[in-house]
This record gives sequence, structure tokens and C-alpha cells, in this order.
Amino acid sequence: MASETKNVYVFGAARTDGHAKMKNLLGGKGANLAEMCRLGIAVPPGFTISTEVCTVYTKEGPEAVKKLVQAEVLEGMKFVEQGLGKKFGDSSDPLLLSVRSGSRASMPGMMDTILNLGLNDEAVEGLARKAGNERFAWDSYRRFVQMYGDVVMGLKPVSKEEHDPFEVVIDAVKAQKGVALDTELGTDDLKELVKRFKGLIRARVGREFPTDPWEQLWGAVMAVFESWNNERAKVYRELNDIPESWGTAVNVQSMVFGNLGSRSGTGVAFTRDASTGEDLFNGEFLINAQGEDVVAGIRTPQQITLEGSRRWAALALVDEEERRTKFPSLEEVLPDIYKELLAAETKLEKHYGDMQDIEFTIQEGRLWMLQTRNGKRTGAAMVRIAMEMLRQGIIDEKEALRRVTPERLNELLHPVFDPAAIKKARSIAHGLPASPGAATGQIVFFADEAEEWVRKGKTVILVRQETSPEDLRGMSVAQGILTARGGMTSHAAVVARGMGKCCVAGAGAVRVDYPARTMSVGSETYKEGDWISLDGSTGEVYLGQVPTKEAELTGDFGALMELADKYKRLGVRANADTPADAKAARSFGAKGIGLCRTEHMFFEGDRIKAVREMILADDLAGRRRALAKLLPMQRSDFEGLFREMDGLAVTIRLLDPPLHEFVPHDEANQKVMAHEMNVPVGVIKMRVDDLHEFNPMMGHRGCRLGITYPEITEMQTRAILEAGLNMKAKGIDVRAEIMIPLVGTVREFNAQANVIRQTAAAVFQERGEQLDYLLGTMIETPRAALIADSIGAQAQFFSFGTNDLTQMTMGFSRDDAGKFLPYYLKAGIYEKDPFQSIDQKGVGLLVKMAVEKGRAARSNLKVGVCGEHGGDPASVEFFHRAGLDYVSCSPFRVPIARLAAAQAAIDGGK
Ligand code: PEP
Ligand code: MG
Repeated sequence: MASETKNVYVFGAARTDGHAKMKNLLGGKGANLAEMCRLGIAVPPGFTISTEVCTVYTKEGPEAVKKLVQAEVLEGMKFVEQGLGKKFGDSSDPLLLSVRSGSRASMPGMMDTILNLGLNDEAVEGLARKAGNERFAWDSYRRFVQMYGDVVMGLKPVSKEEHDPFEVVIDAVKAQKGVALDTELGTDDLKELVKRFKGLIRARVGREFPTDPWEQLWGAVMAVFESWNNERAKVYRELNDIPESWGTAVNVQSMVFGNLGSRSGTGVAFTRDASTGEDLFNGEFLINAQGEDVVAGIRTPQQITLEGSRRWAALALVDEEERRTKFPSLEEVLPDIYKELLAAETKLEKHYGDMQDIEFTIQEGRLWMLQTRNGKRTGAAMVRIAMEMLRQGIIDEKEALRRVTPERLNELLHPVFDPAAIKKARSIAHGLPASPGAATGQIVFFADEAEEWVRKGKTVILVRQETSPEDLRGMSVAQGILTARGGMTSHAAVVARGMGKCCVAGAGAVRVDYPARTMSVGSETYKEGDWISLDGSTGEVYLGQVPTKEAELTGDFGALMELADKYKRLGVRANADTPADAKAARSFGAKGIGLCRTEHMFFEGDRIKAVREMILADDLAGRRRALAKLLPMQRSDFEGLFREMDGLAVTIRLLDPPLHEFVPHDEANQKVMAHEMNVPVGVIKMRVDDLHEFNPMMGHRGCRLGITYPEITEMQTRAILEAGLNMKAKGIDVRAEIMIPLVGTVREFNAQANVIRQTAAAVFQERGEQLDYLLGTMIETPRAALIADSIGAQAQFFSFGTNDLTQMTMGFSRDDAGKFLPYYLKAGIYEKDPFQSIDQKGVGLLVKMAVEKGRAARSNLKVGVCGEHGGDPASVEFFHRAGLDYVSCSPFRVPIARLAAAQAAIDGGK
């Protein structure tokens, strides 16, 4: 395979083999480096070893890789040497390299990077002479030994409390010198560091630090391939659905230096605001620094634009004088470079037609681009950028709809802090608004403990000095993240935005004491387990739990939703059981109720007693007495639903769950019922025992209840129709749909339909008034799907109950599958949880077949789905293709379903 093809692709001013469309082979970074070269943007020359080689590495190991690509790497190196007029391995004028990972999908910080490769004891002298800067050369060398020792030779902390062993050495040398900052270390100190680092490696790894540049290079290349399978990369892939088979490319690129003095620097920029989406060029940089200094959050970075700098100062409580002198913007410090950067970012955004995340280095007054990629952004930024780019004519309507990942709308639907509560809350610290949202939780300091606490049902805020890729899983389960160090482009900020998780970064006044498990601000100390609240939109940290309120669908979000409605074919309804749910659903754009589970109303207030009385009664008269109590309550529930959904369909399902779910299993409540019904408690106990079923989900439930106790169906039908008539009399446009659950045979349907029709006739006669209504059924047993033509001849609509249809088709219970499903998912037996995303090949086939059969029997049959899958974007796309009329999902998923339906219509081609 790979051996016959090209494995190494060069890029540079003289020649570029790749381009932006070659992401699969070159990884995102490699493909975009090539594209930038083609655009005439200054990129240090280099070459990319393809992702296919990573597969060879995983399968056959490093020797096979070396054999496969050695000749091409030599050639690539010649290309780089020619471009720079230097030779790799020449100690008098060393050619130094960076070696970086780069997979198809961006995985920020998950894999390894090595900088300054090629240095050794001789080359460092050569570099010092050439650069005319001994300190710079030794600083580069000590960074290289440190990174290489960590990444390639594996010298890392052995426990979570242990500090990085290299940092310990640095701290020791700093203490000895009596200085606080790395920048205060002199050349001799840096020489001392290199010596100590090498000694540390020798002692802990048992090998010498390699001096031969080629040996260094091969070691680094293999380490990057190896890092594709490190723990954090695996976790990231798992969280983001990235297949292991993709592999990473390796980018070998000539170094440029941002640490060559005051006209050098390095930074990260976004063409728009990744947090809010505002169309404002922004970013951070550090003068006289290397790339990792910006993202590591160790020094406070400066802003690129003057506007950004002023905004930052306002948030960081830095006055203008201090800002101008200590933290000036790039626009102020190096205006010529700033202009060049601005031109490049404009060109790149225009070329890619999307917000770019750019890395650059300035070496002695010359600007070099090191990376560009579509920037990660919050859900809110996703929406705003899409809609603004549409208005700016950069993208068209369809593309604007494609740009937003439906799931990410979740973030815009999250509650926000109630402004009234915020006024009263006590602010204890202030950081950068790194990723918006309102988060409340208990403080934890370690990522693994965050996971543990969450497993125990707690909600947590992960508080760290700064985060690292190891913290990923902990970050993903936390409500929010607070860091003491780091800027808007720090690891925590970037990852949190990618996850759509609330994050306050760089709260400088917060001091974290890991061993003591405390954080302090000024004289106050907060312990693990204390409650705090974070406002990711303002950067404020509050003490305690600040109350929240629901989000609203306004501005660009509202406009996006309208656009979605213009393109979608599927209707979107909501599953709602109460008037409050119905109201929320309508405000999120639901066009009707697709499922009202009437039993949910049975638990409210005092009515559970009447429900229990009905179930526990041992004769028809007793049941009727109890049902008469329930009737007015159900009627008023339905009135509320019809009122809220004026003009829209309200699908009400008759009683469905096994009766034993309602009866009291504890002695105290059994006594209450005995008293209520005036029978001995023993009778109640016996009746409860009678109701016990071995497999209630397959037992006495669904239409089987209505068939054995038609008086229940009668009462519910009466409640629905009387409520409808009452509302109609008030001028409400009532569109009632009565739905029979769990049908498996036509006779079941007909038996229930008869009860409903007879009741309807009685109600209409009593009232002297008619109400139009539809009579349909759930399709949720496999048999119903198989005989959908005969059911379709009788029913006016179908609604797929894909929860039951999935459990019955798969043959496992939706309540018990948790025992093995996680293993199945891990082992790849199922790609997705079939209860979350519909099993298209199996259950989906039943759906498709039932739609066809049903419509063959009744051409105007209305078909929808009301299982959980109705709110899952991949399933929505499937239902679109299957020709359903609508999906119904929980109110909060309505906007997600609307967008997913539009995307399906645009790209599903129906
Ligand atoms: C279903 O089975 O998909 C359904 C909507 O009904 P329930 O979840 O109430 O069983
Ligand atoms: Mg069901």
C-alpha cells in the first residue's frame, strides 16, 4: 500500500506538493501549511510524512517506517536545506527543525511536538555565533532537551501530585540565583540547566541524550506517531468520534524563532472572536518567546489589537497606563508586523470562507505563519459567525445552515444566571471570559476526582492552576472550569470552547494549593467541595450556587432557526405533558405536540391517590368511582395543552405504562390507600403483589390496559374531547389527535378505536357539538411495523415509538441495557447507542417498511416519530430520508431537530 505511493510531501516557497484538500493524507496542519505556501504566505519550508505512514507505524513499528520513508525524508531534507541555504547536522550554522503531529481533525494539544531539534553541544555554539546571541542559543537548547526528554525519552512526572521533573530543576536553579522569572536566567544558568537536564535523563531514563541530529529526528518522528495512541489522544478521539484508523501525519519544518529579542515574538490569532463570534480580529502574543509559552499560560500574554488590549485591560482590571507600558498590543509595539498579520488573516479568512485560528512567529522583524485552521468555537459563536458571514456575502444560506452543528445549539439553550440573583451574589474572583455559560458546582482540583465525584451524582467545577491535555476527561464531566493562569488561548480556554463548556481562565488572584486541596483569594480560603458559580461570559467567579433562568431564542439564533424552517421539509413537534412544557416547546418553535404521555399527569399533587384507587379497586364500580375523580383533573390538563397549542396539533396518548408503576410498594403509602379506600391494608398488599410482573415492559401495558379496562380509555377520551369542546367554545383552534399505544394487531386497534368512537359519539350528543379529531396509533412493536398496511387502513396516523421499537427489535430492555451496552460500544459491536441514535439498518428498516406499507393502504396517512430519536440529528436525517412528516422530541431539542431537519433537506436531497 503505502510503499508504492508517495509518503513525504514538501512545502515551501520553491515547491509545494500538497494542498488544502489533502487533509486525509497530510492532516489538517500539513494540508493547510501547503495551502498557505500556495497563497504566497511566508511559511518556513518543511515536509509532511503522511497519515498512511502512521498506520504502518501502528501495525509494523518504527523500523518498518524508517525503511519505508528514509529515502523520501532524505530528499525532503535536501529541499529544506536548499530553501534555507543551510545543512542539517552542520554545527557551524545549524538547521533546526520542529517536529509536530497533525491529524485530519484538529486535536489541539493532544499529541506531541518537539522544537529546536538538531541542537547538541557543538551546534549550540554555532547557533550562538550565527545569531550573535549566546543566551538565546542556550535557551533554545535547554528547551529542546526538556521537550525531547519528556516526549521522546519519556521523562514525565510519575504521580499527579508530582511536579514536572524538569520544572523542579528550573525552580531549583532559579532559587539558587534568587530570581523569579525564566527570563532572568543568564547564559551560565541555562548551561547549568542543560547539564542538569541531561544528568536527570541519564539517571531516570538510563540512556544518554542523543547528540546525532538524525538520531534525534527519527526519535522525534516515531514519538509523534506513537503519541497518536497516547491516553489523552484516545480520550479526545472517543469524545469527538474520531476513528483510530485515521492516524496522524508528522510535519517536519524548519524552525523560526520568536525568542530572538524585542523584535521577535510568537502568538495565536483568531479572525473572529471564538467565544462570542464577534467579527473582530483578535489574539494574543508574547515578545521574545516560543510558541508553547503562549498556550502554556505561564506568562500573561498581550493582545494583538489595540481594541482587544483595551477590552482585556477592562476585564483584567488593569489601568490604561499599566496596559500601555506593561502589556501593549502588537498593533502598538510592532505596527508594521501588525499590518502584515492583518493582511494575512484577511486573506486567509477570505480564502477559506471561515473563521481561522492562526499561529505565527516573528523572527527579528519578519513574520512567519506556522499554522491556520478553521477555529474551534462555542455554539454561540458558531451561530453568530454563520449568520454574519451570510449577511456579509461570504457564504450562502445553505452553507450558513451547514456551519452550525445541531448538537452545539444545546449551549445556547442552557440556562443563564438570573440577573437579579447576580446582583445579590458575592463575587470572589475575576478572570477572563474564556468560554460562555453559567456553571455552578462543587470545587475539585484533580481531573480524575472530578470524574469520580460526577459518577457519584455530584456537580463539580474543576479548578486548576492551568489545565493540560491530561485533564480532558475531567473537564468534560465538570460543569465549568476555572484556571488561575492562562489567557484566552490557553489550553483550558481552547478546549472548553471546543466542548461548549463554561470556562473562566487566568483568574490571577486565585492561588491553588494542590496538596492542601484548597484555593485562596486574598485572605479567604475555599476548600474542595465548596460551592462556586462561574459566569463564562463575564469572567466572574461567585461564591455559592447562583440561581439560573431559561435561555431565549433571539437574535442570530432566532434568525438561524427561521432559515432552517425555510429549508426543512420535516415538521418538528415536541413531546410535552404539561402546559408549561407546551409553552416552552412553542417558544422553541415546535409546531405541535407529538406526544403527551398522559400518565405523567397522574403523579401530580393529590391525583396519584385517585389513580391508585382506580388500580387497586377490585371491581368495575370501584374503578369507575376512581375514574370519575380523575376525569376533571385530566380534562383541565388537556384544556391547558389545547390553549397553549392553539392552532397546532396535540397528540395525546392513552395510558401506557404497566400499572404496578403507580401502586405504593412501601408500607406507609399502602396504609394511606387502605384508609382512603376503607379496606384492610392486607387487601392492598395482596393487590400490589398481584400486579407484580416478571417482565413488565412486555406485560400488561399499552393498549392491553385499555382493552382489559375499557373504562380507562372511555374516561381519557371523554377528558380529551370535553376539554377540546370547552376550548373550542373559547375560540381556541383545537387540533386533537388521540393515539393508541403498543398496538400489535389490527383487532387491538379496532377494539380501542370502537371505545373511542362510541365515547366521542356520546360526548358530542351530550354537548350538542362536534369536534374534529384524528385517531391513530403508535408503531412500536415489530409486529405493528410488519402489518402496517392493515393497521394503516384503519388508523389516520402513525407515530413511531422508537424507544419500544428499538428494545423489542433488539431484544434488550431499555432499562437494563446499561449493563452491557457500554462494552458493546467500546468493542465496536454497536457504533452508537441504539437508544440514542436509531439503528438505521435494523430498526430503521422496520420504520421504512411501515411507512411504505401504511401509505400504500392510506395515501394521506400522517407519519411521525416520538421516541427519543426524534431529537437526535443523525436520526432526524434518517427520518427525513424515510419520508416521515414530522419528528417529535423534548422541548429543548426542538431547535436542534429543526436545524438537523434543514441540513437533511439540503444535503439529503429530498
Ligand atoms: C416509545 O416507545 O418510543 C415512546 C415514545 O413511548 P414511551 O417512551 O413512553 O414508551
Ligand atoms: Mg413506547
